[in-house]
Amino acid sequence: MSIAIHKDKCIGCKRCSIVCPGSLIVIDDDKKARIAYPRDCWGCVSCVKECPVSAIDFYLGADMGGRGSTMTVSSEDSYLHWHIQKYDGTTQTITIDRRESNQY
Ligand code: SF4
Ligand code: SF4
Repeated sequence: MSIAIHKDKCIGCKRCSIVCPGSLIVIDDDKKARIAYPRDCWGCVSCVKECPVSAIDFYLGADMGGRGSTMTVSSEDSYLHWHIQKYDGTTQTITIDRRESNQY
Protein backbone atom coordinates (compact mmCIF):
# COMPACT_ATOMS: atom_id res chain seq x y z
CA MET A 1 0.00 0.00 0.00
CA SER A 2 1.30 3.45 -0.89
CA ILE A 3 -1.10 5.60 1.09
CA ALA A 4 -2.79 5.78 4.50
CA ILE A 5 -5.95 7.80 5.14
CA HIS A 6 -6.31 9.37 8.59
CA LYS A 7 -10.00 9.17 9.43
CA ASP A 8 -9.63 11.61 12.30
CA LYS A 9 -8.63 14.33 9.80
CA CYS A 10 -10.95 13.36 6.93
CA ILE A 11 -13.91 15.72 6.35
CA GLY A 12 -15.62 13.45 3.81
CA CYS A 13 -15.33 15.80 0.83
CA LYS A 14 -14.95 12.82 -1.58
CA ARG A 15 -12.28 14.57 -3.64
CA CYS A 16 -9.81 11.70 -3.25
CA SER A 17 -12.44 9.19 -4.31
CA ILE A 18 -13.33 11.19 -7.41
CA VAL A 19 -9.75 11.84 -8.50
CA CYS A 20 -8.32 8.32 -8.01
CA PRO A 21 -7.81 6.93 -11.52
CA GLY A 22 -8.32 3.38 -10.26
CA SER A 23 -11.47 4.11 -8.22
CA LEU A 24 -9.70 2.59 -5.23
CA ILE A 25 -11.05 4.94 -2.52
CA VAL A 26 -14.59 4.68 -1.15
CA ILE A 27 -16.54 6.85 1.28
CA ASP A 28 -18.00 4.78 4.11
CA ASP A 29 -21.28 5.30 5.92
CA ASP A 30 -19.44 7.37 8.53
CA LYS A 31 -18.58 9.84 5.71
CA LYS A 32 -14.90 8.99 5.96
CA ALA A 33 -12.65 7.93 3.12
CA ARG A 34 -11.12 4.46 3.04
CA ILE A 35 -8.84 2.82 0.49
CA ALA A 36 -10.78 -0.28 -0.48
CA TYR A 37 -8.16 -1.87 -2.73
CA PRO A 38 -4.78 -1.00 -1.21
CA ARG A 39 -2.86 -3.60 -3.18
CA ASP A 40 -3.95 -1.95 -6.43
CA CYS A 41 -2.63 1.51 -5.51
CA TRP A 42 0.29 2.45 -7.72
CA GLY A 43 1.20 5.63 -5.85
CA CYS A 44 0.26 8.29 -8.36
CA VAL A 45 -0.31 10.73 -5.40
CA SER A 46 -3.35 12.33 -7.06
CA CYS A 47 -5.41 11.78 -3.92
CA VAL A 48 -2.62 13.11 -1.71
CA LYS A 49 -2.51 16.36 -3.72
CA GLU A 50 -6.29 16.68 -3.83
CA CYS A 51 -7.03 16.29 -0.11
CA PRO A 52 -7.76 19.77 1.34
CA VAL A 53 -6.90 18.79 4.93
CA SER A 54 -3.72 16.70 4.44
CA ALA A 55 -5.49 13.56 5.67
CA ILE A 56 -3.65 11.24 3.29
CA ASP A 57 -0.07 10.09 3.91
CA PHE A 58 2.00 8.78 1.04
CA TYR A 59 4.64 6.23 2.00
CA LEU A 60 7.99 6.86 0.38
CA GLY A 61 9.23 3.54 -0.93
CA ALA A 62 12.58 1.89 -0.45
CA ASP A 63 13.53 2.88 -4.00
CA MET A 64 13.56 6.49 -2.76
CA GLY A 65 15.36 5.66 0.45
CA GLY A 66 12.09 6.19 2.28
CA ARG A 67 12.60 3.66 5.10
CA GLY A 68 9.16 4.40 6.52
CA SER A 69 9.11 8.12 5.71
CA THR A 70 5.76 9.62 4.75
CA MET A 71 4.64 12.68 2.82
CA THR A 72 1.57 14.92 2.78
CA VAL A 73 0.77 17.85 0.51
CA SER A 74 -0.81 21.24 1.15
CA SER A 75 -1.51 23.96 -1.40
CA GLU A 76 -1.58 27.71 -1.35
CA ASP A 77 -2.41 29.70 -4.48
CA SER A 78 -0.19 28.20 -7.19
CA TYR A 79 2.21 26.64 -4.69
CA LEU A 80 2.34 23.01 -3.61
CA HIS A 81 4.09 22.25 -0.31
CA TRP A 82 5.36 18.69 0.02
CA HIS A 83 5.79 17.90 3.72
CA ILE A 84 8.07 14.95 4.39
CA GLN A 85 8.15 13.24 7.78
CA LYS A 86 11.39 11.30 7.79
CA TYR A 87 12.01 7.97 9.47
CA ASP A 88 14.42 9.61 11.90
CA GLY A 89 11.75 12.06 13.18
CA THR A 90 12.97 15.10 11.24
CA THR A 91 10.77 16.96 8.74
CA GLN A 92 11.39 18.69 5.44
CA THR A 93 9.13 20.83 3.25
CA ILE A 94 9.69 21.20 -0.49
CA THR A 95 7.72 23.99 -2.19
CA ILE A 96 6.95 23.92 -5.91
CA ASP A 97 5.31 26.63 -8.01
CA ARG A 98 2.78 24.84 -10.22
CA ARG A 99 3.15 27.55 -12.86
CA GLU A 100 6.71 26.27 -13.43
CA SER A 101 5.89 22.56 -13.32
CA ASN A 102 6.23 22.00 -17.08
CA GLN A 103 9.47 23.82 -17.66
CA TYR A 104 11.76 20.78 -17.17
S1 SF4 B 1 -2.10 7.23 -4.88
FE1 SF4 B 1 -3.22 7.29 -6.86
S2 SF4 B 1 -3.76 5.16 -7.25
FE2 SF4 B 1 -3.24 5.28 -5.08
S3 SF4 B 1 -5.20 5.64 -4.03
FE3 SF4 B 1 -4.27 7.67 -4.43
S4 SF4 B 1 -5.12 8.37 -6.39
FE4 SF4 B 1 -5.52 6.13 -6.20
S1 SF4 C 1 -9.87 14.24 0.05
FE1 SF4 C 1 -9.21 14.10 2.21
S2 SF4 C 1 -10.88 15.03 3.39
FE2 SF4 C 1 -11.70 14.60 1.35
S3 SF4 C 1 -12.66 12.56 1.56
FE3 SF4 C 1 -10.55 12.23 0.85
S4 SF4 C 1 -9.31 11.91 2.73
FE4 SF4 C 1 -11.29 12.82 3.33
